[in-house]
Amino acid sequence: MKRIILKHGEERRILGGHPWVYDNEIERIVSSSGRTAGAGGVASLKPGELADVESEGKTYLGRAFVNPASKIVARLYSPSKEGVDKGFFKRRIREAISRRAAYDLRRESARLVFAEADQLPGLIVDRFVGWPVQTDLAPLADFPHNFDEAEARFGPPLSWLVIQILTVGMETRRDMILEALEETLGARSDDGLGLPAAIIERSNARARELEGLPVAEGLIKRFGAAETPDSAPDSVVIFENGLLFLAHLESGQKTGHYLDQKENHLHAARLIASLGNSLREERQLIVLDACSYTGGFAIHIAHMAQTAQTLAVDSSRDALETLKQNALLNGVEARISVEEADIFEFLRGQERARTRFDAIILDPPAFAKSHTQLKDALRGYKEINLRALKLLNKGGILVSCSCSQAIDESGFKRMIRDAAIDAERRLLQLDFRLQSPDHPILVGYDESCYLKCGFYQVLV
Ligand code: SAH
Repeated sequence: MKRIILKHGEERRILGGHPWVYDNEIERIVSSSGRTAGAGGVASLKPGELADVESEGKTYLGRAFVNPASKIVARLYSPSKEGVDKGFFKRRIREAISRRAAYDLRRESARLVFAEADQLPGLIVDRFVGWPVQTDLAPLADFPHNFDEAEARFGPPLSWLVIQILTVGMETRRDMILEALEETLGARSDDGLGLPAAIIERSNARARELEGLPVAEGLIKRFGAAETPDSAPDSVVIFENGLLFLAHLESGQKTGHYLDQKENHLHAARLIASLGNSLREERQLIVLDACSYTGGFAIHIAHMAQTAQTLAVDSSRDALETLKQNALLNGVEARISVEEADIFEFLRGQERARTRFDAIILDPPAFAKSHTQLKDALRGYKEINLRALKLLNKGGILVSCSCSQAIDESGFKRMIRDAAIDAERRLLQLDFRLQSPDHPILVGYDESCYLKCGFYQVLV
């Protein structure tokens, strides 16, 4: 086993929980025979191999997957000299499942494995639970509105795994990972959630490019009795907080549905519904769900705030088509309308038209994909928040999200304050939340704390 020796002082971040070693932090590489490869020795590492990481002072830091072609040369997966075989992956997957005990995984879709946070750097596994559907409109409107009824009508739900393999360390062990998933989920123990109907790959993230890996997408495997054509349908219906959503596992964004906003969807809808109650006699609430995707927020709001009329805006026509189907599935189509538009142009247009809203959700894509784009990204976030604040009525609610890893909580809050100053509004923070807990956060590794979601009321 090779050893990666860090430069003086470079172990601090790693001792604080951060699992990455960058190329410029490495002093030398020592091979198993004790030969030192010197400063340029990173090239002696083989893509995907394992190595032990040590400080200059010989403190053992842990074992890592390496990729000499990436700026992130080593990704630690264990604080000890743990080997990597199928048993390792099964153990990690079992641990990851038991961490998610707050979820009823028999019924709920959830992220089962969240990469570094689950000590499996570069591996993401989302598990969807539901029923395959044809997306004809008539049967959608007729879909049972609760889980038990759906189960009585269609039989037990199926599950699907949507996976992302984002690093060379994981890519070289692809078959082992798939077998480990199959054996762990199919086991007759508590972790045996049941074999999925299929495994679908969505390894299309930018991270993969930085690792020198090509995009890999599509159906990987179907299982057992479910080897019928619709065992890997593109469209499945899942329940989220008791509401119905279509998830397009192969063609949708990300892995098909933004599971990370689950609790925030509900929380936003509760706040807006209570605002609606206080205004009930006077008038209807006008709500904007900006960057709505398939309506995670809009559907919850339309369901809970009966007096709200919600406009969902997104630049993706496909997402809005699915949103309309989701509205139909939940019987709220009369309270939702959609508009295909660029969010910046849309908000400018609303300002010119002097439209006013009672609540606005802003959930844009990650404007900053990396630290180098941070400044431009913050400008983008500030612009849409500023414009949204100008459009809100006094007493109105802003739910503002950012899923950029590069923007931390304090940077996000400063951006909101600056937007409020420029918009000449005073804000009360009602709550501040992060991603759903099936996306746990590794302390010291801020990249795993990527989703910020602030809930604000406009005081003045
Ligand atoms: N709110 C959604 C998730 C939104 S993801 C949920 O809770 O499920 C971000 C969305 O922004 C995507 O649907 C994407 O299509 C959309 N988007 C990206 N760039 C945009 C732009 N310039 N204008 C409007 N929408 C945009």
